[in-house]
Amino acid sequence: MTDFAYSPVTPEVVEELRALLSPGQVTIDEEKRAAYSRDEVAACSWDRPYLAEVLVFPECTAQVAAVLRFADERRIPVTPRGAGTGLSGGAVPAFGGIVLSLERMNAILEMDVDNLCITVEPGVVTSEITRAAAAAGLLYAGDPCSGDASFIGGNIAENAGGNKVIKYGSTGASVLALEVVLADGSVTWFGGKRRKDVTGYDFVKLLVGSEGTLGVVTKAILKLVPLPERIVDLLVPFPDAASAVAVVPRIMREASILPSSVEFMDALSVQLAERFLNRPVPHSDRAGAYLLIQIEGNDRDALADDYERIGRFCLEHGALEVFVADNRNVRDKLWKARKAVGEAMVAGFVQSALEDVVVPTSAVPELMREATRITETHGVEGINFGHIGDGNMHVNFVIRKPRADWHEVMDRALRDLYRTVRRLGGTLSGEHGIGLKRRKYMEEVMDTAQIALIRRVKQAFDPNNILNPGKIVPDV
Ligand SMILES: Cc1cc2nc3c(=O)[nH]c(=O)nc-3n(C[C@H](O)[C@H](O)[C@H](O)COP(=O)(O)OP(=O)(O)OC[C@H]3O[C@@H](n4cnc5c(N)ncnc54)[C@H](O)[C@@H]3O)c2cc1C
Repeated sequence: MTDFAYSPVTPEVVEELRALLSPGQVTIDEEKRAAYSRDEVAACSWDRPYLAEVLVFPECTAQVAAVLRFADERRIPVTPRGAGTGLSGGAVPAFGGIVLSLERMNAILEMDVDNLCITVEPGVVTSEITRAAAAAGLLYAGDPCSGDASFIGGNIAENAGGNKVIKYGSTGASVLALEVVLADGSVTWFGGKRRKDVTGYDFVKLLVGSEGTLGVVTKAILKLVPLPERIVDLLVPFPDAASAVAVVPRIMREASILPSSVEFMDALSVQLAERFLNRPVPHSDRAGAYLLIQIEGNDRDALADDYERIGRFCLEHGALEVFVADNRNVRDKLWKARKAVGEAMVAGFVQSALEDVVVPTSAVPELMREATRITETHGVEGINFGHIGDGNMHVNFVIRKPRADWHEVMDRALRDLYRTVRRLGGTLSGEHGIGLKRRKYMEEVMDTAQIALIRRVKQAFDPNNILNPGKIVPDV
């Protein structure tokens, strides 16, 4: 896989790490190493097990810097780790070595209401930032479905998307600045509390989504926006996926409303979520697919006008009915169901591949038709849900009885899917990242010039290739 020769983690190395940090911040306990060596990618995706040799739990930037400096000198690979909710194997230690958990760096350092921003450490749980912002009357707009578990450092490293991207953008759109420890242990800040900056290259944007391969994020300054006073969700069943999908661009274009979310679930997704949560979700027996549409605003009457307009528009274009959720309790139930679909799918099938392709929104109808063709061609079942408002669909493949040839079948189905999304102007991943899982498919969507550049950027940041090797960059 790589020309780089790494040093093993010997008992002496463990002792030196204990001296650099403290004994309670370093462990080689086997059960713990196993738990910190996986993320939420289904185990059937891997052709072999991966195991960290040692875990370290730094508590400040200086300790992260000390570990990286040491690892760089010794040529020991380091895999940064957030909450381990990743869906691309980004936190899986492909070459063993050190797993560097950021879970103890979990403080909210500053709420700056004058500059509409918040400064946090990387181990803060995403929804804690949302709550802290709301307490100050502000909104942190990052909203991945895993937000009650994922860390902000992981969100930044994956440029996590989620449910509010059509209105507010992915995580990166909220990142103003990053404190980063580079591979050689040096510490630097990219960006600042400023809203504009064209002084040299945009390293903030480069670091966002770099999956821990270019540096370790140790602090972040995040942009906040005014908190809307009112939110309404509409759950809209359609007889089939095609009619649900067709209405989405028209909501924005013809009804002239920018929702904060437009999510898609096929009927099987809703059934899986109901079973997984053991709780009914409002549904229509005739539905083949659902849209979950969220709008927000400050004025009650204006918001009611908007949701009635969207509701009417959907009904005129094939919707079976419109469920309106205008109180917190019902809204929470709908979103709990939507957010549970991915886990419900992995739990409900013996083998599954949760995919994350993204296409221009106008190409979603063709993507959905092609998804059906691909499942039929390769003899698997399909489950589709996702962030349809921004063209990021989780087109997934599952089977009910285990197959020994799962890896070969998946390889063929995924190559077919990725070639299709490329033809449609899309790409491999909209928010889950490349990680270990999709690395071998980079050539399907990137030309040799781009891959060569990625390698050179990696080389510039991390010449000894110690930072999360085996991720993103093909053959490195
Ligand atoms: C049920 C479920 C729902 C999900 N829904 C969404 C969704 O809606 N949208 C979405 O985008 N994703 C979603 N995800 C995927 C996942 O939650 C996100 O990718 C999330 O950003 C990962 O954060 P984490 O803290 O768990 O990171 P981890 O999985 O621990 O790590 C992810 C990557 O980040 C790197 N990393 C972690 N911390 C740092 C750091 N401080 N510095 C540098 N690199 C670092 C790791 O090396 C790894 O490459 C979902 C996952 C699950 C299980």
